[in-house]
Amino acid sequence: MTARVLVVDDILSNVKLLEAKLTAEYFEVVTAFNGMEALGKIEECDPDIVLLDVMMPGMDGFEVCRRIKHNPKTAHVPVVMVTALDQSADRVAGLEAGADDFLTKPVDDSALFARVRSLVRLKMMTDELRMRETTGQNMGLVDPASTLAETAPPGRILIIEDRPESVAWFSAALQPANEIFAVDSFEEALVRVRGGDFDLIVVSLGLRGFDGLRLCSQLRSLPEGRNVPILVLVSDGDRRKLTQALEMGVNDYLTRPVDKNELIARVRTQLRKKRYADRLRHNVQLSLEMAITDQLTGLHNRRYMSRHLDTLISGAQKSGKPLAFLIFDIDHFKSVNDLHGHDIGDEVLREFAGRIGANVRGIDLACRYGGEEFVVVMPDTDIQFAYAVAERLRSSVETNPFTISRAPHKLNITISIGIAASENADDTADKLLHRADQALYRAKRDGRNRVVADAA
Ligand code: GH3
Ligand code: MG
Ligand code: MG
Repeated sequence: MTARVLVVDDILSNVKLLEAKLTAEYFEVVTAFNGMEALGKIEECDPDIVLLDVMMPGMDGFEVCRRIKHNPKTAHVPVVMVTALDQSADRVAGLEAGADDFLTKPVDDSALFARVRSLVRLKMMTDELRMRETTGQNMGLVDPASTLAETAPPGRILIIEDRPESVAWFSAALQPANEIFAVDSFEEALVRVRGGDFDLIVVSLGLRGFDGLRLCSQLRSLPEGRNVPILVLVSDGDRRKLTQALEMGVNDYLTRPVDKNELIARVRTQLRKKRYADRLRHNVQLSLEMAITDQLTGLHNRRYMSRHLDTLISGAQKSGKPLAFLIFDIDHFKSVNDLHGHDIGDEVLREFAGRIGANVRGIDLACRYGGEEFVVVMPDTDIQFAYAVAERLRSSVETNPFTISRAPHKLNITISIGIAASENADDTADKLLHRADQALYRAKRDGRNRVVADAA
């Protein structure tokens, strides 16, 4: 893995030492010698991680960290505080400033690389989501998922631990802000994660009955566990286990004996990150849906239909079943706009789309083809059946006026429909659409408010 690391320290020899270690492992290193310079470099060089000295003249590391995390442009960059201070209170102060982890001076190589690799790997996953979300935003599809939320959301936390006194201690520390669930066996843990919608899983690596690391790796491979952060508890000094856990992709860790405030601070950070990642994923999903959906009517858009038609056509050819195309066009729709306004025209389009949706089957593809034209593609449907569906919809539109929000509150609408169905193997989507369109043209020419079937 390669990544860009910003090393910040006011003492040249400290910077040089970290730079040498990281460069030897093929990391790209950028340096800064004070807080202001660091804040400039982080925007300018876009590092994947910041190693930040705490004690610096002028702005100290806590303040630099706070500013990094408050700036939406840089909040996603993980910060590791490099410090000679190793008291819980210092760590809590760092976590509250938004730090992701700590390294104590003199920096131990394996701890350094394990932290940097793990945090960079986690960041890259979020970066991927952020990038896709940005594309959705640029296409005007979704609003940004903001940044890491300021307030800590309450979470559903699963504790996997087989010592009852330890479970009781964790529950007391994390309640009532969070909902706590506890299990003490491997199988039960898997079952709960599969079925439960957890925001955080705390796994003790000192379990008597089973191997906590193996459990972490299994949880990671479950679809329901993939996006749930895991926080492991390791005994102080069990460096090897911790390194393995970080390599496996656990999100954070606590060493025993656990400090209550540090626990609360780390849990809060993980819940915030989870909430943010959930929002990103939700927005990405939303923009995917919006990219294939017509905004006015909620039906599929033409782009989606074009892509999906090939699948439908080849399915029809393989199964030897007919495929029907129906093109709907509202009669004299221009006069609806002219007489009642464009917004009322939109209301009519929306209601018409709803009526189409209510009259077709789940397997049919209904889309807004453009303006006031709609297309429905019906698999496994011959021309007679398509005609019956079209005629039912036509007559129901004719006899049931559309509701509009202004006087006269009801509008009489009629529609014309052209239909075509595939008959032989060399029918393409273009040919079928063209034939349905020709039929629609005849329906209009012959006086509107009618269904015409392609005669080919
Ligand atoms: P015909 O019976 O021959 O279909 O006549 P028509 O007036 O329906 O046909 P034409 O295609 O000439 O006009 C369609 C109108 O639909 C023109 C356009 O302004 C309007 N239109 C297209 N898209 C929208 C829309 O999203 N909202 C509204 N309100 N009107 C739209
Ligand atoms: Mg029309
Ligand atoms: Mg038209």
